[in-house]
Amino acid sequence: MISSGSIAHMANREAERFRAANPRALAHHAAATGWFQSVPFHWMKDWPSPVPIIAASAKDAALTSIDGQTYDDFCLGDTASLFGHSPLPLAAALAKQASEGLSYMLPTERGAALSARLAAMFGLPLWQVTTTASEANRAVIRWCRGISRRAKILTFNGAYHGAVDDAFVDLKNGQPVMRTSLVGQVHDLRDTTTVIEFNDEGALADALRGGDIACILAEPVMTNVGMVRDGPGFLQTLRTLCDETGTLLVFDETHTISSGYGGHGITHGPKPDLIVVGKSIGGGVPCAVYGFSSEVAARMAARNQSRPAGHSGIGTTLSANALAITAMDAMLSEVITRPAYDHMLRGAARLVAGLEAQIANANLDWHVTQVGARVEFLTCPTPPRNGGEAKAAMQPELEAAIHLFLANRGILLAPFHNMMLVSPVTGDDQIDRLVEGFADCTKALKE
Ligand code: PMP
Repeated sequence: MISSGSIAHMANREAERFRAANPRALAHHAAATGWFQSVPFHWMKDWPSPVPIIAASAKDAALTSIDGQTYDDFCLGDTASLFGHSPLPLAAALAKQASEGLSYMLPTERGAALSARLAAMFGLPLWQVTTTASEANRAVIRWCRGISRRAKILTFNGAYHGAVDDAFVDLKNGQPVMRTSLVGQVHDLRDTTTVIEFNDEGALADALRGGDIACILAEPVMTNVGMVRDGPGFLQTLRTLCDETGTLLVFDETHTISSGYGGHGITHGPKPDLIVVGKSIGGGVPCAVYGFSSEVAARMAARNQSRPAGHSGIGTTLSANALAITAMDAMLSEVITRPAYDHMLRGAARLVAGLEAQIANANLDWHVTQVGARVEFLTCPTPPRNGGEAKAAMQPELEAAIHLFLANRGILLAPFHNMMLVSPVTGDDQIDRLVEGFADCTKALKE
């Protein structure tokens, strides 16, 4: 147990240390008055440092700031750069495409190869492209409702699937509530979103029994509320109950692409009806994809036949532009490879072993969870079984103090939780520095 006094002491000391070491970031932030709240996008205020680090550039798994600090980057753009910053094949392909036009509203030859690569990697035959994973999830929900003629979807308490209003329903004391952080939503989402706890097979069976749920939108392992692993047999039960009730199963693999080549569904099963993958698939270029089975495709085609041409509510002008297609094709053909995963998984195992050893050394009742190349420490003794337990276990002040301590020693973690990503270009020396920094931090917290 770390005392609140010790946490506050570390937070204050590290904030001072940050200010002393980052004068240019402070000046930049003070001058950035043209941005609302001094940042071009509000999440950038969520880092634990007094002002955001101002990035100068990044390459592989390292980032440099305008203050000349270098960071071992385990945030990797919160998964957008999971396969390393600016891999050479991507940079070269983008440079070439940049001089050949970026957005034509027409298919390109490269797209044919890409759809085949997606099918081979993720095991589903048909694909569509969007600009973000949020948008892919919204499209998938719309299609599932459109083809099933069912209004409801089901999500899990504490889930996050991007800017997808339908998924902003949580459980509070067992009752569904709209997430209070959601801005400007005027409809009661509880009418059409059923929310249950992850790993609750009884609640799942009850919810699906009515046959009125279009789809389950799920991460196969929850990764946005700390990490919550699927209990034994849970995902298979999900698959079986979906089949029995005509409910479509959507895996949002935007984060769980870390599990292994092809994502969690391919690596561990079961197979979903639809899959969403975003962020890292374009190496940081805004793009995402959703894939689906032939059966779903046939139902989508039938639905299309019965609707007039025109706005469908799905897709935007920039969807599948030439730059996005080129980026994904370069990534899938030369960067997101099986050998890349071998390196990532080896590195993640090294990181887990290192962190667990330091937790034991410091006699802390914390634990580490791993989903392939994605590693997370939680400051509680046992892995939570669902979002409710995970939320209860979180200690935001403690986590922020740890993050800032590490940032001040040149190690970058994602701001929202204790997630560390190991890329194909993350070196053992970087992993060892993180483990050392973590050890120093736990020592300092106990002093
Ligand atoms: N799905 C999951 C599982 C995510 O974690 C996120 C974002 N963190 C998204 C979808 C949305 O991605 P984007 O913000 O790129 O739209």
